[in-house]
Amino acid sequence: MAERWVLASSNAGKLDELAALLAELDIKVVSQAEFDVSDAVEDGVAFVDNALIKARHAAAATGLPAIADDSGLAVDYLGGAPGILSARFAGTHGDDEANNTKLLDALKGVSEPGRGAAFHCCLAATRAADDPVPVIAHGVWRGRILTAPRGDGGFGYDPLFWVAEENASAAELSAYRKNAISHRGRAMATLIDQLRERR
Ligand code: IMP
Repeated sequence: MAERWVLASSNAGKLDELAALLAELDIKVVSQAEFDVSDAVEDGVAFVDNALIKARHAAAATGLPAIADDSGLAVDYLGGAPGILSARFAGTHGDDEANNTKLLDALKGVSEPGRGAAFHCCLAATRAADDPVPVIAHGVWRGRILTAPRGDGGFGYDPLFWVAEENASAAELSAYRKNAISHRGRAMATLIDQLRERR
């Protein structure tokens, strides 16, 4: 019988992608929304800190192995900001338009070579809240911040993230293509490899 793991995210899109990959390892993922799990206090300073905090919190609350993610954008010129604050760079959580406007303002006058950035996704899988050897996978996707938005797909900073190899912004890629090459897609593939090795 498939082992049940809890996913510390209520984002249905993320659940679907991970669920398909984990099914190959005979792991069935259940959203933490199906349990009465309070919000974890994300007081880390790095993506990996917050991913682990969320995974441990969900494992403690449910008694099941747990997987959590934390992701965001790190801009070279801004010393890695907005980083773990990506979702609320401009103040309000999830206000993509305000976040993008703030990012464009912060890079005003910065020429192309100085506009490098990377999306990061950190996934943490922990067998129990006190697991001493959690599995950590980190995916990185490098690009450049445009001077104006392009494309209307994706979410968050996608319209400002230029991917030279694709000659497109992240918001101009199909969901399928983005999943194949993005920070999240890479982190998921690495996590699955590592979990497979531990079997
Ligand atoms: P979360 O980890 O899904 O909560 O993402 C945190 C924030 O990082 C999001 O609200 C976005 O602002 C940004 N972000 C993470 N991944 C992406 C992406 O694939 N495209 C655009 N923005 C992203």
